[in-house]
Amino acid sequence: MTVKTRFAPSPTGYLHVGGARTALYSWLYAQNQGGEFVLRIEDTDLERNSKEAVDAILEGMQWMGLEWNEGPYFQSERFERYDEMVEKLLAEDKAYRCYASKELLDEIRAEQEANKEMPRYDAKHPKIVAANKAAKEGDDCVIRFRNPIEGSVVFEDQIRGTIEISNEQLDDLIIRRTDGAPTYNFVVVVDDWDMGITHVVRGEDHINNTPRQINIYKALGAPVPTFAHCAMILGDDGAKLSKRHGAVSVMQYRDEGYLPNALNNYLVRLGWSHGDQEIFSQQEMIDLFSLENISKSASAFNTEKLLWLNNHYIKTSEPEYVAKYLKWHTDQQGFSTENGPLINEVITLVGERCNTLIELAEQIRYFYEDFTQFEAGAAKKHLRGVAKQPLMLALEKVESLSDWTDESIKQNVIMVVCEELEIGMGKIGMPLRVAVTGGGQSPSVDSVMRLLGKERVISRIRMALRFIEEREASL
Ligand code: GLU
Repeated sequence: MTVKTRFAPSPTGYLHVGGARTALYSWLYAQNQGGEFVLRIEDTDLERNSKEAVDAILEGMQWMGLEWNEGPYFQSERFERYDEMVEKLLAEDKAYRCYASKELLDEIRAEQEANKEMPRYDAKHPKIVAANKAAKEGDDCVIRFRNPIEGSVVFEDQIRGTIEISNEQLDDLIIRRTDGAPTYNFVVVVDDWDMGITHVVRGEDHINNTPRQINIYKALGAPVPTFAHCAMILGDDGAKLSKRHGAVSVMQYRDEGYLPNALNNYLVRLGWSHGDQEIFSQQEMIDLFSLENISKSASAFNTEKLLWLNNHYIKTSEPEYVAKYLKWHTDQQGFSTENGPLINEVITLVGERCNTLIELAEQIRYFYEDFTQFEAGAAKKHLRGVAKQPLMLALEKVESLSDWTDESIKQNVIMVVCEELEIGMGKIGMPLRVAVTGGGQSPSVDSVMRLLGKERVISRIRMALRFIEEREASL
């Protein structure tokens, strides 16, 4: 049997972290089993769903790299099929028309509450029986599923173990509303059956639906899939994760400078473990993933850890991979990486210092764009009268340097200036750094100079010398 999993979001908003983790787990399980992954958009609630939300979900899935083998299917395009299945159940007397009005049901509910009974739909209630008898064909009605009265539903949840619910607790569910719209618990079963889904991985907010759905599978004569219900994600304060905790939309993580591999690695560990391993390549996640090792208890979101992972991935990924996602941020920050050193080399040099791609973009700007001002604090401290002579000599050495490598710049510019002027490294290193980068923080200045290229280095040292002269003149 080929394993087939699915992700079945309702398009009412963006792809949030909880949904993204469910999607990731479903996808990983399919990959792990050499199976297939289906994307299904549950858009039967036409009023609450929007095309923008569908696009946002697809964009989020694509950004995370969760490719689907089939779909996206849209439930809104399958109403005929649901009607067909409702008719089948009606014909087999496994479903029935119920004419009890909303007012009548409210009245019965109030009575039950007054009698301290559990409020529930009771097909045998005399008032409901009477309403159904009095109805004529064509009157408004809903279709209800005839839930078995006796016995219980038992299933083996892959995460939570055996779950048993007595049929007494399950009332006759509406499967088609008065307006003809089929309901969630029904369409999900028809779809999972039609689409050959073998494993349903979803949030535990659906666990109460599962026994009802299992009864519907059985009534339709469909095989019952295996279920795995994942626990919730909490914010770092222990409350249910919400906007209050910061980013909850997957695309907001893109905006905040995370790499998809870092977010995926973070999300896979948020509720799943393999010993105490924290870092998993995509391939390792696929190879090691299992439903049994998903945690039963809720997991708390920890942004510090996500940042740490992001830094790890910026540092250790192929620079091509980082460059692909960095582009969005350099565009946002309004500069291009065309006019300057190869972006891959710049990423290799600067990446390890950054936790996010926003920081990385900020810290590489001077490689591609000339600046008109030095950072005030750094300039005040390092571009002073005493730096003039070392910078002038450095400029001379740079101009005559033919071998433009890190080592040669270090030996024939920096070290030579130190020797000839009998000064310490700091006296030339820092002024040079501020001169060529505009600020006081950068990776090793010889590597930065090599990447900037001789021409830019010369014009920036000249700019620093002018700055010092103007400053001295104004004293
Ligand atoms: N459409 C449901 C939701 O977004 C998921 C249904 C399911 O996974 O069975 O919560």
